[in-house]
Amino acid sequence: METDKSGPKKKIGLLGGTLDPIHYGHLRAAEEVYEILGLDEVWFVPAYQPPHKLTRHLTPFKQRFEMVKLAIRGSNHFKVKDFEARRKGVSYSVDLLRQIKALYGRQCLFYFILGTDAAIDIESWKEWQSLPSLATLVIVQRPPVSIKEVKTRFSEIFPDIPIGQRTDVGEEQPAIIMLETTALDISSTNIRALAGRNRSIRFLLPEDVRSYIMKNKLYMKDYTDKICRPDNGQPVEGIDAARCIYDQILNNKGEQIVVLDMRSISPVADFFIIAQGRSTRHVQGMASRMKRELSRQKIKCHSIEGEEEGKWVLMDFDDVVVHLFYEPVRIFYDLEGLWNEAPRLVMTVDGLKPEEKDE
Ligand code: ATP
Ligand code: MG
Repeated sequence: METDKSGPKKKIGLLGGTLDPIHYGHLRAAEEVYEILGLDEVWFVPAYQPPHKLTRHLTPFKQRFEMVKLAIRGSNHFKVKDFEARRKGVSYSVDLLRQIKALYGRQCLFYFILGTDAAIDIESWKEWQSLPSLATLVIVQRPPVSIKEVKTRFSEIFPDIPIGQRTDVGEEQPAIIMLETTALDISSTNIRALAGRNRSIRFLLPEDVRSYIMKNKLYMKDYTDKICRPDNGQPVEGIDAARCIYDQILNNKGEQIVVLDMRSISPVADFFIIAQGRSTRHVQGMASRMKRELSRQKIKCHSIEGEEEGKWVLMDFDDVVVHLFYEPVRIFYDLEGLWNEAPRLVMTVDGLKPEEKDE
């Protein structure tokens, strides 16, 4: 029989994500969790192909990995791991945690670190119900979503799992820890947008990472999401807003997205975007997450209707009007049929472009 002579298990924090690029938001959160929970190490695990970001250009794994390496140089308790690149394909957290647990579960306890923005969307993740049994979930502050909001939601969706602060929850048992860490409103999206416009990104991320970005001209050209999340408080308008909204629908697993160019047809809006969800709950969740995330990107939803029922939600973003449907209801209204005169736009690597018609 095998016996475990290795003594107490090592406590390992895991911070996954696109990390395109890594910044002080990630690093400070990891450092605080390390200190508060008395971890032995934190492993940064860049995703190979993140499931939520299938539309925008992604910096190659190797370069994102390299940037993490530069960022953590000198911090002995931080490590970078390439599990996701070895597995290839879409990087789902549940697969990562299963793999890590199988490999190291006998020697290590895992603490999966998540920002509140990611945590609040957890129900859209693959096999999300299994996550707490694979690692202790550690939720850290990430504006604009508060710890309180996540706590309320988590106590509904994980009713049997203790939710606490620090380690007042059993170490081997499934548990969720909520930490009021320093809220730093830094995001990779914003860094990419600044770099894309030749603006300074200094002091948002380690200097070595900044130099690497400059030297390798990352985010400078062919960079397709630089239109999102302007730093200057200016609203994002027209087709740029439509593109950001389209991305958000995709991120929320909206289906059958149709973009109509209404500029020559209706004075109401420049673009109509029609999409559907699999259930009224899916439509409701999609609408509320879109509203929140887009407001972060300075795209304001001026009015929203139908959210309570979720059969049909109308969201008015000024230049862009979004119609989200529960599938059977979409067929009934047949908006595409109603506006069949309107030219359609399709998503390309260069953004939304007129659809090419086969004559
Ligand atoms: P993007 O803007 O491209 O989505 P990001 O800045 O959100 O990038 P991710 O790589 O998506 O960074 O995030 C990985 C993980 O780190 C997620 O759990 C996220 O919630 C968390 N995180 C990101 N930024 C912060 C921050 N400023 N503070 C705390 N946690 C953060
Ligand atoms: Mg993110």
